[in-house]
Amino acid sequence: MFRWIQTGSRWARVQGTSCGARKHVTIGPRCEPRTTYTVVVTSDATDQHVLALTTGLVLLPSVGERHAPAFGTMGLRCVADLLVHLPTRYEYEEAEQPIVALNTLVGASGRSEVQVSTRGEVASVKKGFGRKPRIEIQLDDGTGTLDVVFFNQPWIRHKLHPGQQLKVAGTVKLHQSRLQMANPRWEQVDPESPAPPSEARLLPVYPASESVSSMAIARGIEPILDDAVALLEDHLPDDYRHTNNFPTLSEAYLAMHRPGSEEEVAHARRRLAFDELFMLQLAVMMKRHHRIQTLRAPALPLDMTLHERITARIPFTLTEAQQQVVDEIANDVQRPVPMNRLLQGDVGAGKTVVALYAMLMAVAAEQQALLLAPTELLAEQHHESISTMLASSKVRIALLTGSLSAPVRRALLEDLRAGDIDIVVGTHSILNESVEFKSLAVAVIDEQHRFGVHQRAALRRGNSEEVPHQLVMTATPIPRTLSMTIFGDLDVSTIHGRLPGRSPVSTRHVPSDESMQVYESLAQRVGRGEQGFVVVPVIDESESLLKDIGTHLQMLQDGPLSSCRIAALHGRMDATERDAVMHRFRDGELDVLVATTVIEVGIDVPNATMIIIEQAERFGLAQLHQLRGRVGRGDLPGECVLVADPVTEDGEARISAIIETNDGFRIAESDLKIRGPGEFMGARQSGLPPFRVANFERDWDLLRLARRDAEAWIDQDPHLQSPSHALIRSRLMKRYRQSVGLVDVG
Ligand code: ADP
Ligand code: MG
Repeated sequence: MFRWIQTGSRWARVQGTSCGARKHVTIGPRCEPRTTYTVVVTSDATDQHVLALTTGLVLLPSVGERHAPAFGTMGLRCVADLLVHLPTRYEYEEAEQPIVALNTLVGASGRSEVQVSTRGEVASVKKGFGRKPRIEIQLDDGTGTLDVVFFNQPWIRHKLHPGQQLKVAGTVKLHQSRLQMANPRWEQVDPESPAPPSEARLLPVYPASESVSSMAIARGIEPILDDAVALLEDHLPDDYRHTNNFPTLSEAYLAMHRPGSEEEVAHARRRLAFDELFMLQLAVMMKRHHRIQTLRAPALPLDMTLHERITARIPFTLTEAQQQVVDEIANDVQRPVPMNRLLQGDVGAGKTVVALYAMLMAVAAEQQALLLAPTELLAEQHHESISTMLASSKVRIALLTGSLSAPVRRALLEDLRAGDIDIVVGTHSILNESVEFKSLAVAVIDEQHRFGVHQRAALRRGNSEEVPHQLVMTATPIPRTLSMTIFGDLDVSTIHGRLPGRSPVSTRHVPSDESMQVYESLAQRVGRGEQGFVVVPVIDESESLLKDIGTHLQMLQDGPLSSCRIAALHGRMDATERDAVMHRFRDGELDVLVATTVIEVGIDVPNATMIIIEQAERFGLAQLHQLRGRVGRGDLPGECVLVADPVTEDGEARISAIIETNDGFRIAESDLKIRGPGEFMGARQSGLPPFRVANFERDWDLLRLARRDAEAWIDQDPHLQSPSHALIRSRLMKRYRQSVGLVDVG
């Protein structure tokens, strides 16, 4: 145990606490030469504190009351916050040079600019005026003078005065044959402070804010770093660490904040990245273990007769790809272990019948099945097509949407509870309601591309250990990196390729000043009896947007599409209004819809052959691919025109990616590259704590290691109950109990 004591402006730690004792105290960060003082420990020293990870920053002399509020706005409140606030990069701080040496450095290096650091006394300050004044000072260290200029930093004006000792670091160059340094990093130094480091070192650069600079964060943590890391308990057992050549947590954090070399940083980073990946893998594996070992689902039998009865209901022959996936799913649901499967296949790949197959297995076993769609219209379409296929059967099918009247809805819920309904089709919102089933055996969730982590708790079967088999369908495939992480508990089935007889949608890009020809070609298609969509971007669904749609629609109606029947469709319309428009379009009473992205899910109109996307550079890749998937759903080939004048590299990348391929899988991979995994497919909305260090792409090997070892650990100790796992277990629970849903796991 030690205490913190303030001596003048410095601060120190004192071993032992007896009042009145004389203590030799070493002061100063480890990297600088230390001075030993003698202090007397007094009992009334109000600034004595035992340092803990939870010690508030306000108590640290290196932050203090003055700066703590600003740190607080960055979420930095206690010592632990400061410890895990890691540098994003490092800068080499060259050894400090006397000013006279800078001349020769600049001359000798042959370069016009050289990174240096030096110090001296402020000899003069010239302050400009106005909002963005230029501030010029002259630094003198007795060997020479250096001009230092600050641009666009008006707040500095009040901080610089002649006579101050400054340390500056930055690029020095010759300007009108005088040495000049512009916008350097600078700090005021105590004239008595220890001599400058004589060797180059790595300086951490922290994520900073307007009011808290990276330097302030460095100054905040440096004096307490050694003591703070000493408080860290490692949750990885020693032998495991040794086997994998990981430093301890203390070593890792120390090296991140005060690295001796780039290798040290890499070594430390590897450990911290592994921790994040490993924790998540442990959580996923715990959950998987729980599902397989504890949870139960009804085993649904399948024999040749049933197979033939089911396939007889399907009005076409399943493709080989579909049949293979049917086999995988049928295999799962024949066992009493709850299926947790993802069915991925591009837009129009024919996923629905595959799901229907499993649903009919449930019905054959006198159990119930549920199909959830992202929109009411899609639910209706699913309901309609399933009803058609099962028209002459005894299967009782119901549609459960928000637009049912209260009595009808109540009766339907009663039927579900009584088991008088076999298949119910509804919208995702059912998951948030208390819909009770007599015996739900198969739940299918059609996600389209809004793939997220679902709260499955809603789909219990009475007994808390009984759950339905679950199949999630998505048109946006999971990139392999993500399938190893949050979605790591999903078994994946994939329908590759297209349905026979479907020609791919052709995609082209035209600049906005050529859009008239495009609309004329749409008018020609309408003349031939085809239909089309015009999509305008949504920034937010505000009044001005509605005006935009209105104006655009009017422009088309008055111009190139004057011969067409046009209507608007957007998210601000209420559901009934929107459905009415969709129905009229589907029934051929409208030729063209001018819409926002509300159409990206939920429209299956085979007669629609052309989609024109305005300002296409504003849409995400997955979105563009989904929108394109609205056409070419029948026998007629589809056409997608991107009207865009991309100005950013990003926008251009998306436009060319979408033109290059029709393959949703390749698009998903590009999307991940362009956007990064954080935003991908609702992973961000999933409530999962973000990684601070790990990066899926860069840390692929670590991810594999984490997955392999997490599996082995959970195999051996499913609830992490052994004493050597206690710490990791409690940290794991703290981090992932909510987001991964470990609530009932351990
Ligand atoms: P998605 O995978 O996008 O959900 P759907 O399941 O809606 O695709 O299928 C698209 C269309 O193709 C539907 O009209 C469906 O009836 C039809 N379809 C599915 N499988 C086949 C098949 N094997 N042969 C012919 N048509 C099929
Ligand atoms: Mg579908």
